[in-house]
Amino acid sequence: MKTDKGIKPAPPLFLSPNILLIVCVAVAAILFVAIQFIPVTQGVMTFVYIACVTLVIYDMLIEAVMKLIRYKNYDENLLIVIGAIGLLILGEGLLCTAAVLVYKAGIIIYTILEEKSAEMFERVVDVRPMVVNAIDCGAVMQKSVGKIEVGDVIAVASGEYIALDGIVIGGASVVDNAALTGDTAQMQVSPGSPVHSGSMNRGGNLNIEVTATFDHSFLSHVIKHIDIAENRKSKTEKSIASLARVYMPAIVAIAIITGLLVPIFGALEFKTWLIRAFGLLFISGLGALLKMIPLTYLAGITGAVKKGILYKGSDVVEILARTTSVIFEKTGILTTGHFKVTDVQAYGISEEKLLMLAAYAELRSEHPMAQAIVEEADIDTDFSKITGFRSFAGRGTEVDVAGLTVSAGNARFMEELGITPDISQNESSVVYIAVNRKYAGRILLSDTIKPDAQKAVRDLRAIGIDRLALFTGDKYETAGNVAGKLAIREFYAECIPDDKAARIKGLHDMQLKGDRLIFVGDGKQDAAVMKAADAGVVLRGLNELSTAGDADMVIMSDDPSKIAEAIVLARSTNEIIRLDILLTLGIKALTLLLMLFGAIPAWLAVLADVCLTSAMIVYVYQTFGKFGAVRRKRRIFGVRHRKYV
Ligand code: ADP
Ligand code: MG
Repeated sequence: MKTDKGIKPAPPLFLSPNILLIVCVAVAAILFVAIQFIPVTQGVMTFVYIACVTLVIYDMLIEAVMKLIRYKNYDENLLIVIGAIGLLILGEGLLCTAAVLVYKAGIIIYTILEEKSAEMFERVVDVRPMVVNAIDCGAVMQKSVGKIEVGDVIAVASGEYIALDGIVIGGASVVDNAALTGDTAQMQVSPGSPVHSGSMNRGGNLNIEVTATFDHSFLSHVIKHIDIAENRKSKTEKSIASLARVYMPAIVAIAIITGLLVPIFGALEFKTWLIRAFGLLFISGLGALLKMIPLTYLAGITGAVKKGILYKGSDVVEILARTTSVIFEKTGILTTGHFKVTDVQAYGISEEKLLMLAAYAELRSEHPMAQAIVEEADIDTDFSKITGFRSFAGRGTEVDVAGLTVSAGNARFMEELGITPDISQNESSVVYIAVNRKYAGRILLSDTIKPDAQKAVRDLRAIGIDRLALFTGDKYETAGNVAGKLAIREFYAECIPDDKAARIKGLHDMQLKGDRLIFVGDGKQDAAVMKAADAGVVLRGLNELSTAGDADMVIMSDDPSKIAEAIVLARSTNEIIRLDILLTLGIKALTLLLMLFGAIPAWLAVLADVCLTSAMIVYVYQTFGKFGAVRRKRRIFGVRHRKYV
């Protein structure tokens, strides 16, 4: 998708099968029908059929020859051209013209259907207006979004989508992210609140100072992900592509046997078998199927975006569809990750001093526990006071402050420093503090289980996910408490990131063939864990989308229950693809047999193929419609309403 100028190109009236081609086919069709009713000599008849066939397949001939010369390779096009010429030579002009007409009509129909739906799927995601009201020295001016720069101010009226990321500087309103995450919850915004491209302004007018240009706005990241996702091929796609490579020569072989060997050893005459052989070439390609599969994945991927789920590839959809195990990280995924300090227990120094030293130790850390301690201590955030910040993944941190070495971390960290802390048996999370490598006290913290976590577990069980597990670096009692409350039977506590990766690998190797395992984390320090799972999922708010690099899938909200939704969606996408593969191969096999016995002519076999593919595209379109129907319809009506009234 080109967005550099910020102006979306208008969709061309006719898509890839260009006008010339469509005109040629139409002329051929008219000629073909007319000649049936006009009494002419056999010679004229033959001439007209040859003209019709030429009109319809000239482009395929060119393409086939080019491919043959350039890549020394052949495809469906060449085989059909050979089939058509063969039938013409045998004097089967009527049969031949009918077959090429049906074939070409099919190609035109589903190219248009396919491109229309692909375009629609992308449209549904990209809700941004292309023209915005920019405020320049108090005057409002309409500008293309591509021309807006960071620092410009745009006005967004009630009922409009916000085009660019920014910060509200004037007005108060409510916005929702329904178009992005499917979440209809409305958020209050007032001066100072950040807003995203793609959000809908549902209250009063807003003035927004832009913080990211069009190409760097949130929605552009989402669309970039979709573009990349389309190019990451699933196993199904790869195996159908290799099937196609076997299928074509197989049909050619059958055609050769039918055309040459059968008449030599059989009873029937040569011509009859040759006609059947050339006819077979018309069903020698799996091209339609090869196009349908990516289209279906695209439908699934864009459908999911509307629910706040970003699959980063068709392969991810496939993995999700086969998932039987879901491993959750605890902190920030099943719990809110917003820790609160509940108690400070100091030994040898005052509680205030302990908290203050701890806060300096944690000042540079991104760990949610660290942030809670810094918040509680309320120190002035003067980074120059601390030197030598050292971070130990899954353990804790250490700094030098005012001539003291302060270490903060878990029991494992303390033991590694040769310190024996007083291990607490209760369910709070604990950060132990040592000053100059001497135990100085501990800080107790509590985290709360997300209200949505219960639903997440329930939904996953309901769709038959039989293994749920919880991984955490936190201590055993805390992990057990959370797992118990959520009825998750399997949990692993006190893991450092390496342990988590090793455990996932273990669980992964224990699976039955074909089963898949996913890991859901916060994307911080868990690249190795994500890699060890079949797919890594990052759960995070909209703000951090552009940094969710290692994940295979991103949930654009804080709700773990989206995982079940993502699995259901992936399953239905895969279901459609499987249905399409089965029906296509079934129809090919059936028509092949019928043609061998001379029960149907080639054009009828091609017609069956065309009908199936068109029906499948419509079906995909419909199914996708179900995913995002309500909102899309409303939007379309909304636009109409504004236009005509
Ligand atoms: P999790 O995200 O499951 O808590 P982490 O690997 O991020 O796993 O952390 C594991 C444990 O290491 C934490 O539970 C905590 O006890 C300790 N820890 C990590 N970083 C810090 C820190 N900055 N301050 C205190 N403790 C920490
Ligand atoms: Mg973590």
